[in-house]
Amino acid sequence: MLMTTESTKQEQLHPCNAYTDLKRRFRDVGRLEAIGEILGRDFLTAMPDGAYRSRLNQIAYLYKRVHQDIVNKDIRRLLDKALTHEDNHSTDWDDWDRANLRAMASVYDEHSLIDDDLMEYNAKVANEGRRCHRNALENHDWDSAREHLRNVVDVERRIAEKKLKARGGEDLYDALLQDYCPGYSHSTIDKWFNQLEGSIKGLIPEVMAFQAQKPEPIQLADSYPVDSQMWLNEEMLALFGFDFERGGLYQTGHNPVEGGTPDDTRLVIKNVDTSNFLDSLKSAMHEAGHGLYIQGLPRKSWRYQPVAADLGSAMQESQALLVEMLIGRTEEFFEFLSPRLEGLFKAMHDPTLHPENLCAIKTHVRPTVDRKRADEVTYFLHILLRYRLERDLIEGRIQVEQLPEMWTESSYELLGVSPQDHGEGILQDVHWFVAKFGYFPSYTIGHMLATQFYQTMRQDLPDFYTLIRTGNFQPITAWLNKYVHSRGRLLGPHELMRDITGKEASPEFLMAHLRERYLREEIKI
Ligand SMILES: [Zn+2]
Repeated sequence: MLMTTESTKQEQLHPCNAYTDLKRRFRDVGRLEAIGEILGRDFLTAMPDGAYRSRLNQIAYLYKRVHQDIVNKDIRRLLDKALTHEDNHSTDWDDWDRANLRAMASVYDEHSLIDDDLMEYNAKVANEGRRCHRNALENHDWDSAREHLRNVVDVERRIAEKKLKARGGEDLYDALLQDYCPGYSHSTIDKWFNQLEGSIKGLIPEVMAFQAQKPEPIQLADSYPVDSQMWLNEEMLALFGFDFERGGLYQTGHNPVEGGTPDDTRLVIKNVDTSNFLDSLKSAMHEAGHGLYIQGLPRKSWRYQPVAADLGSAMQESQALLVEMLIGRTEEFFEFLSPRLEGLFKAMHDPTLHPENLCAIKTHVRPTVDRKRADEVTYFLHILLRYRLERDLIEGRIQVEQLPEMWTESSYELLGVSPQDHGEGILQDVHWFVAKFGYFPSYTIGHMLATQFYQTMRQDLPDFYTLIRTGNFQPITAWLNKYVHSRGRLLGPHELMRDITGKEASPEFLMAHLRERYLREEIKI
């Protein structure tokens, strides 16, 4: 009798024996990676403090083992055989198998550039960084942060050098960027970002003048209990179709972080601030966008296979920002939310919770020093600041010691405001501490992709705004699942964009969206 798993594409025998063998090996690698991911989730949500050191070593060792299993010479031999078979017997290969083989080859190439010890050390430094950041932020301790960051920059530069040498590229930073934004080169991003910089700097005064005609929103000034906020956050996740049987939402001392596996998607947000429920709701919706993507990956047929992974962080951020910024800042969203908040916080007819006021708070444009609380229009300038600094750091044009000063200067130049202390400046974000150099552009590319998907989605779902007004978010999730989540890596990011929207990725969609939302202009693309 066949076991039930025999019916999955992962377990099916393929006419090419080498490919069947590769699927088995990558399944086992995938299991080890899933264990590593769950140890990491547990590290953030449940681990007792005393396990800190040993856990770091366990995670680092596991990633070294994964690395060794991938760069094994048998894998190279099997890949060559399978690629030859695909050339000679193309009818034996369907689109998913082809995409899986391509994804296997790219995982192999990626790993074969780095040696075991560097991989292990990198995993350790990255996991240490989360705690180092938390402590530095709590104590405004730049001195200890500086030591850690020096270490990270050194490791990242060593990795970038190896990658650049083996696969070419424009420069060291470009080599790191490809891990997060595959397919988007440094020069393309520069071109997009220069275009956005000019357009957004021009847009800000227009938006400020437009919003000056309206009354200032009333700011939240009550106490909103933690339990009520978490109840609301979980309800929102459930309305979007997040499966709590396979995941959860946790508040911790750490900055929000996506991750997990399709079977265990534990989302992390920062401890709830009782004076402002909109911040934790925003974080929960952002992480929900990531979580829905992870849970929606093609796990049933392809669990653990490289084709079942997501399309990298730019696509991940597109899903998160679509939920958090595009849907979560519509007037209809606040029409849905407002009466429920009045009940939840026992504040009937509170003008602060009026839908128009909530929408005005969340769409109010004002340059500030804080990326995570930035409005949608100035958000890009926060990313530009970080993008330029991290590029110069990796390229060796500036040193870690100069960061606080350079941060303050850039902040003033781009946003017209300067941080008052390290917590408001250089210590704001966790990314560099956990070795994610090259990640920041994902937010802006993700925002661009999100606005482009959003435009097509609104055409495909004619009652789109009624869905939002009535809290019926599941058709939206189903649309995302059908076109993005469930396809894993079947298509590359550029092919996926063309397939869904018929167009190439472009910053014009983001600009058109901002002009529509903040100046009430009609979209003309
Ligand atoms: Zn995110």
